[in-house]
Amino acid sequence: MNTQPSPSILRIALPVPLRKTFDYLPSAHMPLLQVGMRVLVPFGRRRLVGILIEVAQETTCAPDKLKPIIAVLDETALFPPLIFKLCLWASHYYHYPLGEVFSAAMPTQLRQGKTPKTPDKGTIPAHTALHLTLNAEQDAALKEINNAQGFKPFLLEGITGSGKTEVYLQAIARMIQQNQQVLVLIPEINLTPQTVSRFTARFKVPIVVLHSNLGDKDRAIAWQSAALGIALIVIGTRSAIFTPLPHLKLIIIDEEHDLSFKQQDGFRYCARDLALKRAQLEACPIILGSATPSFESLQNARMGRFQHLMITLRAGNAQLPSFDIIDIRKQKLQQGLSPLLLKKMQYHLEQGNQVLVFINRRGYAPTLICHDCGWVAECTHCDARLTYHKIKNTLFCHHCDQQTRVPTHCVCGSTDIVPLGQGTQRIEAWLNDHLPNYKTVRIDRDSTRGKNKLPQMLEAVQQGEYQILVGTQMLAKGHHFPRVTLVAILDADQGLLSADFRAAERLGQLIIQVAGRAGRASLAGTVAIQTHHPDHPLLLQLIQQGYHTFAETALEERLQAGLPPFSYMALLRAESVLEEDPITFLQQARALISEPTLVQILGPIPAPMQRKQGHYRAHLLLQAKTRGDLQRLLTVWLLQVETLTHKGLRWSVDIDPQSLS
Ligand code: ADP
Ligand code: ZN
Ligand code: ZN
Repeated sequence: MNTQPSPSILRIALPVPLRKTFDYLPSAHMPLLQVGMRVLVPFGRRRLVGILIEVAQETTCAPDKLKPIIAVLDETALFPPLIFKLCLWASHYYHYPLGEVFSAAMPTQLRQGKTPKTPDKGTIPAHTALHLTLNAEQDAALKEINNAQGFKPFLLEGITGSGKTEVYLQAIARMIQQNQQVLVLIPEINLTPQTVSRFTARFKVPIVVLHSNLGDKDRAIAWQSAALGIALIVIGTRSAIFTPLPHLKLIIIDEEHDLSFKQQDGFRYCARDLALKRAQLEACPIILGSATPSFESLQNARMGRFQHLMITLRAGNAQLPSFDIIDIRKQKLQQGLSPLLLKKMQYHLEQGNQVLVFINRRGYAPTLICHDCGWVAECTHCDARLTYHKIKNTLFCHHCDQQTRVPTHCVCGSTDIVPLGQGTQRIEAWLNDHLPNYKTVRIDRDSTRGKNKLPQMLEAVQQGEYQILVGTQMLAKGHHFPRVTLVAILDADQGLLSADFRAAERLGQLIIQVAGRAGRASLAGTVAIQTHHPDHPLLLQLIQQGYHTFAETALEERLQAGLPPFSYMALLRAESVLEEDPITFLQQARALISEPTLVQILGPIPAPMQRKQGHYRAHLLLQAKTRGDLQRLLTVWLLQVETLTHKGLRWSVDIDPQSLS
């Protein structure tokens, strides 16, 4: 640690959008300085909280221009050396300003310069559930994990309901006995209350849960409890990857394929990838678990970079569901449901079981159209149609915040304005009418708004209050529905036909994850998939041979096409209220790249949804065979791009983008 009694120059990272650090002078009364401490500094007319990066003897600034800092805010470094290193690495890898990385890595209260409170120890749960006896595959996986020395990544690929969580719990138990800390990252805590309670029910040690619904104060206290080594288990969503943990000995990423590990705006990091870096710095094992691993992780396992652990059987007596493809060509659909599907639903309901209907679209109808002239309700800020929500009798844009009343008349004067297509609300309403003897519950972002709404609904489903569940991908997230025996996927075609090269991977993950909700207890489950493409080879392979074989085939296609994970991408995005500006800016940016280069440059082109929230958007795609080639170019080039000035234009760079939209 850098300590210095009489420093001359303090190098500070500040939360400003510039890829540089700032030099200051010490103030009159300086305590012992440590790199990673927070300092308060004057910046223009503002005061900012920054992080001390270095105590230097020289500066390139004119000495009379330097200002002294206002105060040192910590007694010891808020960022211990390891997290400090992780932030430096992240700033470098994601080409995001260091000060902003530090800022994102701390809880709001600390970011505001407040002093962290010492937590009390009230957090110890009363119950501890007993361990289950592991089956042979679980046991083999656990033994490998327990034998790991130092940095060692595992890909735990176990089918849905195979007992991966039980393996995590027993791996954690061993760490807890030795008073070590464990970090568990999970996709979205509010969507998976059952997962959290399984962890908290098992251990009689302090556990903290870090998620976005925590108040600022509670979050700061939980963070501090982890940083002081009081909490032995930290369960959190993606930003928890930055939590200091002095005795960290194991990292677990559950549902590692989940998109929510990647931040989609601002500091666009991937928590899974940062977790791998962190495990390397910590020299500890890391488990990436999933029934449907990301292609990136599968490829890492194939290359031998991850040790591949497989669980191929369901735990206990549970059976895997069987698949049925329903060919809906020429079929008369009622609100998107084919006669055969309805028959199946009735059969399962008559047996006293539950049915899950999956459709990835909330609202009542995705389009509102005039039957006389063909006018369609569109957002005035986005290149998108407005979704009709019947319950609130409002039109919503799902891409910005626009809400508008449903018009009584079309511009042509007609009053014959009708909803077109189906969303969850419409299917719920139709099922209520059509199957009045069974109760339907809708589970989507609209119906679960409000604290504890989702846990209450899930509980009511467990209790058998409802027989039919209609919902969006929220239903695909790790829930246990032991009485669901039929899962209906209303529309697989969107995923099959999408232009996005990741669409097949996403569809495969989604189908297997939703399917995994069925037949989790002793009742066998069936999955019915409606499609216009019943012979689609990838779909057939998925349901006949399983996700792993499907993924191997799809990976082969990626290899042939030279797409990730066989190449590396970065996306430079630009947006402006002026239509021409993003493309002009990106053309200038492109011209700054000195050719020839090993990096392939594609574009600029307008984004698939060109206008969003009133801004025109475009992007430039960079692709390279190796990470090194891409990173070398970006490091030099982005500093030049930063000097291009366009009033009102915003740009950002996305490393390893998960979506090219
Ligand atoms: P996954 O995390 O792979 O989806 P879970 O850990 O949720 O699977 O396990 C599915 C179900 O099987 C749970 O109800 C769990 O309690 C049960 N289970 C897990 N392991 C065993 C085991 N070894 N013996 C009996 N039941 C088990
Ligand atoms: Zn009209
Ligand atoms: Zn909009």
